[in-house]
Amino acid sequence: MKTIDKTILDTEYFCIMPWVHFHALPNKKVLPCCMADSDKPVSNVDNKSILHMMNTDEYKKLRLNMLNNWPSDICQRCYDVEKLGTWSLRQSNNAVRGESSLNLVKSTKMDGGIDKFKLKYLDIRWSNICNFKCRSCGPEFSSLHAKEYADKKEGNLTVFKMEDIVVGNNKDGSFFERMTPYLHHVEEVYFAGGESLITPEHYQLLDFWLENEQTDIKLTYTTNFSVFKYKDKNVLDYWKKFSNVEIFASLDGMGSVAEYLRSGTKWTEIENNIKMVKEKAPHVKFHITPTISIWNVHQFPKFYEYLVDKRYINPTYDGGLRLNMLTHPWYASIQILPYAYRKKLIADWRRIRSNGNYDRSVRNAFAVVLEALKTKQSTSIDGLEKFFDTEFATDKMRSESLFESIPELKEVYQWMQAAKEVVNKDNS
Ligand code: SF4
Repeated sequence: MKTIDKTILDTEYFCIMPWVHFHALPNKKVLPCCMADSDKPVSNVDNKSILHMMNTDEYKKLRLNMLNNWPSDICQRCYDVEKLGTWSLRQSNNAVRGESSLNLVKSTKMDGGIDKFKLKYLDIRWSNICNFKCRSCGPEFSSLHAKEYADKKEGNLTVFKMEDIVVGNNKDGSFFERMTPYLHHVEEVYFAGGESLITPEHYQLLDFWLENEQTDIKLTYTTNFSVFKYKDKNVLDYWKKFSNVEIFASLDGMGSVAEYLRSGTKWTEIENNIKMVKEKAPHVKFHITPTISIWNVHQFPKFYEYLVDKRYINPTYDGGLRLNMLTHPWYASIQILPYAYRKKLIADWRRIRSNGNYDRSVRNAFAVVLEALKTKQSTSIDGLEKFFDTEFATDKMRSESLFESIPELKEVYQWMQAAKEVVNKDNS
């Protein structure tokens, strides 16, 4: 292992996260961060001290790999993102908290273990409690999905390795208790769900930091932005007391598209919530974190322009946007759409991509969507068939209608039927 100084932050595989971060999932898996491969957990939250969880053989090996600038399978997603030329979680955390945490790295033991854990950045997904059942989500991250699966599909949740409709890592409160001594050094917390604004541990954490006058902690959220009240608590009362609050609302469309895609949404209520936060807690930075998929790719450029026109987001301050491309379920990815349909969307995405008033990061994000739309070879008739079959089955279960909510997709369905006929004729 070479001498550790700040040059380590610029190496290919070093990452500060295993020294300063804690991440756990509702199913109790502990991972070095949310980008890490969830099939390769480094620990489990059951019956162990936090320091024990940070010193498993897997965690020690990961630290040693990083210190030696060797790659680790669990971190492949970061490397992939970097190859695309985009900033990874590894790079951004090295930049934000690398230098100030070097003393922790220097005290690493020869076997990769650590004697003390200074938690600076916290991201625990406490449970799958959620008031939505989004089309792209599933039982592991939404209790409503789990309930629907158990009730209507008469499904056995063990398929998802779940014992119950609600899964959580803190059901007896002991995980929170073990975490409490580490909360004093936290600089940033990321809340995501389930739905964090109706998760009890979210309020427990904020109460702890208020009692300890740690109101300069950065609070970052991914939320469906639908409900601000939980029992006797109102999250706005909390946000007013913290100086650094940043919201990434999971909004990918408006009107019937939003209501179909993220079942539970009432678009007018979401819009009222945006206005309310702007008025009552103006220091809260509001952004959206949309996922671009078959469901919303036709509407998104207009939706983004609508949010800008209404001044809900600021297109010049980092664009108010953290855009994701849907990869799961694969059959809802925009790349499988027929090219003839995609061609019509390209003009809209080009127009928005070339708007010089938008921040460069936004235009870059739109360029990624454009590239995907332009890939001619990726259309998949099988994928479209799977998409429509799944949608129609879910529609039946929920008494919803894809074509009533998103009539634009009728054209795609007709194209798929015609293409299937051609294939069948060729095969007969
Ligand atoms: S390299 Fe990436 S995946 Fe690995 S711990 Fe760091 S941020 Fe997480």
